[in-house]
Amino acid sequence: MANKLLITGSVAYDCIETPLAKADYILGGSASYAALAASFFAPTCMASIVGNDFKESDVARLKARGIDLSSLVIDSSRPTFFWRGKYHDNFNSRETLDIKLNVFEDYKPSLADGAKDANFVLLGNISPAVQRAALEAVAKPSFVILDTMDLWINIANAELKGIIPRADILILNDSEAKLLAGTRNIIGAGDVLLKLGAKSVIIKTGEYGAMLFHKDGFFVIPAFPVRALHDPTGAGDSFAGALAGSLAGSGDTSFKAIKNAMIAGAATASLTVESFSCYKLEETGIEEINRRIRLIKQYSQL
Ligand code: AMP
Repeated sequence: MANKLLITGSVAYDCIETPLAKADYILGGSASYAALAASFFAPTCMASIVGNDFKESDVARLKARGIDLSSLVIDSSRPTFFWRGKYHDNFNSRETLDIKLNVFEDYKPSLADGAKDANFVLLGNISPAVQRAALEAVAKPSFVILDTMDLWINIANAELKGIIPRADILILNDSEAKLLAGTRNIIGAGDVLLKLGAKSVIIKTGEYGAMLFHKDGFFVIPAFPVRALHDPTGAGDSFAGALAGSLAGSGDTSFKAIKNAMIAGAATASLTVESFSCYKLEETGIEEINRRIRLIKQYSQL
């Protein structure tokens, strides 16, 4: 039987300003980006919550990718999670201008029967309390990927550290890795994070690529060379989603399979950043993802 992937995290409306363009109330959130990315690789269910402003057209986008929405709760009393962000001139630094938890204020994940038997779980970026509850609702998770961000490292450190030992892969970006590990050096951070109990650690380095710390060795990949950078939002979530989807799709979780899944993550994330939301990724699909996977391999070998 095919493996089933459960993804939790935020579903959001984002207002984004980059040095090139602006977009208002577009579909975002860690679970949306991750599930859309994962859907190209494996059957994907999403456990999250949206509010009374959630558009039918956005439900249709998720359904068009075959994402199982039976664990997506609609709370008609409040609006969807809201995030407003602005990128600075170099695209690498961004500021959160506003964040409203709205429906997430008291969300406790509950899973539909069809999601409880998922064997692969991606705990996308959201509070560690929601991540833990989602994981506990899965009957027999066999492979768990845990993502997070600086906010939770700062305000929910103990809860986050409590679930790290459940993670087969802990995935985070370079500044978050250093913050969580309390180190100045990225390699030192990888070593410290393994000691916190994750079986392996992936540290993303944005436009430079990503590295893997695993008991069988170390691995590093470049990013796909993007020339048409439009909006970096969701790159990390798409990377994590495609990584999880690729592992669930093959059912192979060896060191080699994780390396291949990282390349799938980088290829998929490179499409996310070429448009607002996931429009470019949804339009181009698996053929372009596969072309970029081949190119990343080609660009990084002798
Ligand atoms: P990334 O660029 O990969 O960090 O992901 C950006 C997405 O994360 C946006 O679509 C936001 O809606 C969402 N987001 C921002 N802050 C949070 C948060 N504290 N918890 C969950 N999701 C968030």
